[in-house]
Amino acid sequence: MNEFQQLKQEYSSCQKCPELVNTRTQVVFGSGNEKAKILFIGEAPGMNEDKHGIPFCGMSGKILTELLLSAGLTREDIFITNTLLCRPPDNRNPKEEEIENCRSRLDKLIQIMQPKVIVTIGNFATERILDKNGINKLRGKVFSLVINHQEVQVVPVIHPASYLYSGRNPEMFEQMQNDFKVIAGIVKENKKQKELTSY
Ligand code: URA
Repeated sequence: MNEFQQLKQEYSSCQKCPELVNTRTQVVFGSGNEKAKILFIGEAPGMNEDKHGIPFCGMSGKILTELLLSAGLTREDIFITNTLLCRPPDNRNPKEEEIENCRSRLDKLIQIMQPKVIVTIGNFATERILDKNGINKLRGKVFSLVINHQEVQVVPVIHPASYLYSGRNPEMFEQMQNDFKVIAGIVKENKKQKELTSY
């Protein structure tokens, strides 16, 4: 078993958040290509994700897949996980202590995968990775971080659920498409440098 599989197994029965342990159907570790150099991080599994064990497999996921395609990417080119691995009951916001409980898992995943690009979806993932809040002013910008001695480009994007809550505001969708153009630009640049070897 490789390190990635070991981490997945380790967390498959995680007991760190008693409330989430009681209410979850399963731990949703992530999906996509475990060798990908682009890591997407969402907030937490919702009802569909909890049921099927796959992140972003509901309506938000449909929009995410569409945006990825517009950037020339498929879900097999990336890996997607969440700030929390377990669904908060009634889709409430993640609690601070739950984010802390899941911190070492996400740090370890990043250490194992060594992504070149991290896309943070929405406020919670953005704050978790960048320690900054305010997705509306951060979205579509590129932040360079050094993680585990390696440069990583971080791009925050609007959460597709916000777009759905907005009643599919076309202006918001245009912003999202623009943010994914930024991601496409980074991918193109990296491809040129042959650094993102998995696609
Ligand atoms: N929203 C998220 O943040 N993550 C999912 O996996 C699904 C919806």
